[in-house]
Amino acid sequence: MSNEIQKVIEVKNAKKIYRMGNERISAVDDVSFSILKGEFCCLYGVSGSGKSTLLNLMAGIEKLTSGQIIIKGQSIHKMGEKGLAKFRQNNLGFVFQSYNLLNSMTALENVELPLIFKRIGSKKRKKMAKDMLVMVGLQKRLKHKPKEMSGGQQQRVGIARAFVAKPDIVFADEPTGNLDSKTSKEVMDLIKEIARANNQTIVMVTHDRRLAEYADKIIHIFDGKVEGIEILNDLRSPNAEVPKEEQQLESVDGDIA
Ligand code: ADP
Ligand code: MG
Repeated sequence: MSNEIQKVIEVKNAKKIYRMGNERISAVDDVSFSILKGEFCCLYGVSGSGKSTLLNLMAGIEKLTSGQIIIKGQSIHKMGEKGLAKFRQNNLGFVFQSYNLLNSMTALENVELPLIFKRIGSKKRKKMAKDMLVMVGLQKRLKHKPKEMSGGQQQRVGIARAFVAKPDIVFADEPTGNLDSKTSKEVMDLIKEIARANNQTIVMVTHDRRLAEYADKIIHIFDGKVEGIEILNDLRSPNAEVPKEEQQLESVDGDIA
């Protein structure tokens, strides 16, 4: 049963070369791996190793020089601009290091944005955005603008926005890079909890080993290459820390059902 979990992302011989004048920079250099549905996967490595480039290739933000990226069975590198935009809207969410919230908008309006793009009606949209903000603990900040909130609160809004449309995959590039360690832990716990509850896949970039350890799988990146893959929690094993029902019961009363 559990070994039938499907591959939700497949990266095959991905390469990205940047040309700067006469110089060629191999930011991603023949990288292959796959990520399972519901897996929390970390791209881990030092600064400049190519993590963000790889994440951006997977999210369809950057174009491959060669290779393939297949998400939910679809080759995203073959999609046109419109098709890709639609695919991202329907399947992907994003959490950014610098939050990327719109400063003129309230927390609620920021979280509503992806739903506006999906043409969800105003009433339903407001309810979904509010429910999501309640889930991230911001029920008292719905009308606050980003500048009226702490960094941790702003990132909670960022998380609510990334997850509100229930995307299958959420990409996060150093999501706690601007936060202190206690707030970072809270934000990481929140991302993991929401993703687990909905069987969503997370692809997160970090250079911090402690944060990488939240993952089920750590992909070590060095010099544009995969240096090794470390599996901390094998979703295909019968002992995997995954069934959402059990997770919820444990977190409700601390009792193992
Ligand atoms: P990381 O996220 O691991 O810090 P990046 O993916 O940002 O690494 O960068 C990998 C390499 O590619 C670095 O050498 C960086 O200078 C280079 N690079 C990244 N983006 C560009 C770009 N738009 N143009 C040219 N070089 C780039
Ligand atoms: Mg980076």
